[in-house]
Amino acid sequence: MTLEDFRNWSRRIADWSATYLDGLRDRPVRAQTAPGEVFDALPATPPEDATSMETIFADFERLVPDAMTHWQHPRFFAYFPANAAPASMLAEQLVTTMAAQCMLWQTSPAATEMETRMIDWLRQAVGLPEGWRGVIQDSASSATLSAVMTMRERALDWRGIRSGLAGEAAPRIYASAQTHSSVDKACWVAGIGQDNLVKIATDSDYGMDPAALRAAIAADRAAGHLPAGVVLCVGGTAIGASDPVAAILAIAQEEGLYTHIDAAWAGSAMICPELRHIWAGAERADSIVFNPHKWLGAQFDCSVQFLKDPTDQLKSLTLRPDYLETPGMEDAVNYSEWTIPLGRRFRALKLWFLIRAYGLEGLRTRIRNHIAWSNEACEAIRARPGLQIVTEPRFSLFSFACTAGDEATADLLERINTDGRTYLTQTRHDGRYVIRFQVGQFDCTRGDVMEAVGVIGELAGG
Ligand SMILES: *Cc1c(COP(=O)(O)O)cnc(C)c1O
Repeated sequence: MTLEDFRNWSRRIADWSATYLDGLRDRPVRAQTAPGEVFDALPATPPEDATSMETIFADFERLVPDAMTHWQHPRFFAYFPANAAPASMLAEQLVTTMAAQCMLWQTSPAATEMETRMIDWLRQAVGLPEGWRGVIQDSASSATLSAVMTMRERALDWRGIRSGLAGEAAPRIYASAQTHSSVDKACWVAGIGQDNLVKIATDSDYGMDPAALRAAIAADRAAGHLPAGVVLCVGGTAIGASDPVAAILAIAQEEGLYTHIDAAWAGSAMICPELRHIWAGAERADSIVFNPHKWLGAQFDCSVQFLKDPTDQLKSLTLRPDYLETPGMEDAVNYSEWTIPLGRRFRALKLWFLIRAYGLEGLRTRIRNHIAWSNEACEAIRARPGLQIVTEPRFSLFSFACTAGDEATADLLERINTDGRTYLTQTRHDGRYVIRFQVGQFDCTRGDVMEAVGVIGELAGG
């Protein structure tokens, strides 16, 4: 491909992108594709000879868009959002073009220094005290794994990274049952094991019960285990539950345990000062993760891990072989030393574009609208005969079910998602099958939310 071809194709693809985004409301939200359709449409063997871009692009248009679930669709109310505000998409196009490997300061100074500045902008935006640092990771799962590694190594006085875990007391991690499965996986990968992730009972509001945490730590010490850390949940995935942050952190601190708050979704909402009471006391944690790629609008992937003091995490994860030394710059910040993967993308640029293009106030307005519309949708569904609210709105997430029971609820969900005008997903809550409804897509309007409510009512009958 010549650079002239590249220029022309970049323009065509930019046009296609705007047309795609503009037409999303006319597409079904969830892919209406049968399993195997795309696989079968692709040749079984790779081409030996070059194919023209014209043909490649025509095949893309023929095979791909209709077989996608459209995460930027304004009537996407499933899972949590993966918002890509258009300004952040533009930053990603530039990053893709420079295609730098941002592992060390020297390999891309702008990426490193902008990352430091963006972390500090976001620290101020969510109201954390001065002095907190941080790093941008690919996903909350990676940030949580980094924190769990730090919990493990701190408890073992950094013997684990040298000698392994054989012969050591079992490091124990505490979390509630509302905590995301990424905590379980972090314990698997860190060699801690599922059995050493202690799920603490929750109170009537589905937050971790402080007395139960205290009792579990005491029982573990008596049994010769090694309490290492607590993972707290703010805005859990199933129903948006939060732990009582200040009470749990106080116990963890008394016990000398490292703490990590998983606010992957709800952390974005902390740019609104009136919502910060939900994580009051968070500044006493050691580590906090939130995903600007969820609710804030930074194109996936972009997960921010704040650290009160990075020293323990750096001691747990820094490796500096000769070939990664930067002679004369031993003190430079090399963010790959803060995380598990060595290679890193330039993720700070999309935050820079996003925060400047909308302003914090523009981003806050979106989140406040989403919460208000979610409350409105909840009341409209509550008023429908045959439907009931199971969990009340937390941030912008609530859940509902058919009064007729689980089977009727699952049928309704399938009808909604086959219809295509909106997209919702399910969870189990207290043994019941429920439909989650979260409002958070960057460009959705009140009209989109109310249209989804109308679809639910229409398909539920009654
Ligand atoms: C989405 C989510 C995660 C996982 O985030 P990834 O970035 O996909 O790894 C973890 N915890 C909570 C509460 C989440 O909402």
